[in-house]
Amino acid sequence: MRFHPTIGLEVHVELKTVSKMFCSCPVGEWDEPNVAVCPVCMGHPGTLPVPNRRAVLFAVALGLALKGRIARTSHFYRKNYFYPDLPKGYQITQYSVPIVQDARLLGVQIERINLEEETAKSLHTETGHVLLDFNRAGVPLLEIVSAPEIRSSQQAKEYLVALQSVVRFLGISDAHMEKGQLRVDVNVSLSPDSQILGNKVEVKNLNSFKAVADAIEYEIKRQRTILERGERVIQETRMWNGKGTEPMRTKETASDYRFFPDPDLPPLVLTDSLIEEAKGLLVELPWERQFRYEEEGVPSHLAKVLAYDPELTRIYEDVMEIDPKLMADLILNVILGKFSKLSKSLSDFDWKGFKVFVKTFKEGNFTREYLKEGIDRHLAEGVSFERLLKEAPQMEEIDVEPFLRELIVSKPQEVKKFAKGQRGVVGFFVGQVMRKYRGKVDPRKVRELTERLLEEAVENT
Ligand SMILES: [Zn+2]
Repeated sequence: MRFHPTIGLEVHVELKTVSKMFCSCPVGEWDEPNVAVCPVCMGHPGTLPVPNRRAVLFAVALGLALKGRIARTSHFYRKNYFYPDLPKGYQITQYSVPIVQDARLLGVQIERINLEEETAKSLHTETGHVLLDFNRAGVPLLEIVSAPEIRSSQQAKEYLVALQSVVRFLGISDAHMEKGQLRVDVNVSLSPDSQILGNKVEVKNLNSFKAVADAIEYEIKRQRTILERGERVIQETRMWNGKGTEPMRTKETASDYRFFPDPDLPPLVLTDSLIEEAKGLLVELPWERQFRYEEEGVPSHLAKVLAYDPELTRIYEDVMEIDPKLMADLILNVILGKFSKLSKSLSDFDWKGFKVFVKTFKEGNFTREYLKEGIDRHLAEGVSFERLLKEAPQMEEIDVEPFLRELIVSKPQEVKKFAKGQRGVVGFFVGQVMRKYRGKVDPRKVRELTERLLEEAVENT
């Protein structure tokens, strides 16, 4: 029997604001716990929250980038539950009218984007204690809820990679999953009928894109086995343990939260000037950029890598004018491949010198072999591009014609093949010349010369 998987994603993204969502405590990474706290984010009685304008601006910018409907008036609600990481006993979030509705990402509908606040960070010790760090409590957070429209783990991953890329390019979040700045909960259900949803299972505790994909695959298999036995899938929350999913002890359902409008916060009304300011944050989106690179002749898989990472994009945009296709190939296939082996990063590389080096190559001043050799030496031995340019062998000085003529004379069989139209023969001769001169000659010129001399040889026989 065939079952249709339906997947929904709930993503939390920490916003890169200067201060917290409802107080002026700074947002950042701290060595010491509980240093960025105040009576507001500690939930002391008598304090009043004040919404962070910049967080609102960021939410609107994301909504606009993803073609969502921006609510000119939205509301803050209290989501009540008791948990040690929540000093107030409730989280301020949005409920009936979120700030953004009905957005789209790679064809998947985003039902809502809620503006809310982070909880504290809890640390479980080996002795069984729970330590709490309230530095994170109250950091602005976006909750991005997709419609259950995703059909596979691959599609889920593509959606997440795109979302991460968009928030990074907008500059509203660093979205590092390993730092908890982007977190994902997954809903998976299976049904024999593509029009009717099965019982959904929520999986929490996913801290990498791979974990998301693995958990989806695992749930699809687990639920299929249950359904094939003729049993029902229990609607529940499970957690990912690295190998599989297991039931979570706490049971939470929407009705338990007793949502009600926060009496301390008036409706959130967006002014024209704020919306205009948010429009000013919009940038070219990664898939638009990928398309632009493809138009320049860059293969699709390379264009995607270059277009989705802000640091790579910055580097590539600066050098692509030399030759979009060649630069994409050199950066991704030659340079980045070696970075991991040499444990280097993008900032360790002399991109300015590299650009001049490749430009000089393009002007026909040295061979492709020397180009690659030079990059290798810069990476492995730290030889500067300036020195590499000075040491570049002068191609023009080497005359390969006498050698090539002799070679052609010594291979009459090959000349016959060429006469019959076997073009591969040209490559054979070019290879011989390149080997002899160890890449110090321009292969394009050698090829031209070889073709001319072969045609000459055919005419003379
Ligand atoms: Zn505070």
